[in-house]
Amino acid sequence: MNIDDVQGDLTTVLFTEEQITNRINELAAEIDRDYDGLQPLLVGILSGAVMVMADLSRAMRIHCEMDWMAISSYGSGVASSGVVRILKDLNISVEGRHVLIVEDIVDTGLTLAYLIDNLKSRNPASIEVCAGFRKPDAASKNVPVKYLGFDIPGDFVVGYGLDYAGRYRNLRGLGVLDPAVYS
Ligand code: 5GP
Repeated sequence: MNIDDVQGDLTTVLFTEEQITNRINELAAEIDRDYDGLQPLLVGILSGAVMVMADLSRAMRIHCEMDWMAISSYGSGVASSGVVRILKDLNISVEGRHVLIVEDIVDTGLTLAYLIDNLKSRNPASIEVCAGFRKPDAASKNVPVKYLGFDIPGDFVVGYGLDYAGRYRNLRGLGVLDPAVYS
């Protein structure tokens, strides 16, 4: 789905597909350098991180493995519930592994704080975070995102894996959803 297909639902187009691809490629090159010879385990957080994971992992030139977790998030609303619960756990053990959490977006940082704590207790060799987007709240709280795509405003955004009520995940760019769509 292209920006043109849903232009009327967005108040602002924040990034085109090309801008996102270019930034993800830069992050992949950084990760290649930092994890050379370490075969990191990329842990994607379903469902929003699917696009970041697909693009990031394919842009990487080193070997990696991928696994997925699903946790409770916003449901179909637009405000953080603050409740984090594992709906699907990893298949691969993280013990002794270099874990890179791959997230779509960091807002309050509650989800990441929970995930980092949870995965740390399983004795990985290291644990870092790569996120496509970060909102001001997380930026001000020093949520530890080592590999960040873009800082964005606090508005509710859709596209590039991020949904509203299950829709817009397949939108190629990232845009601010018009509040008229959800009010
Ligand atoms: P946090 O725990 O950092 O507040 O929220 C993280 C999760 O909330 C993200 O993984 C994502 O699923 C969801 N989220 C946060 N902001 C947005 C947004 O602007 N749009 C969408 N679609 N989801 C968001």
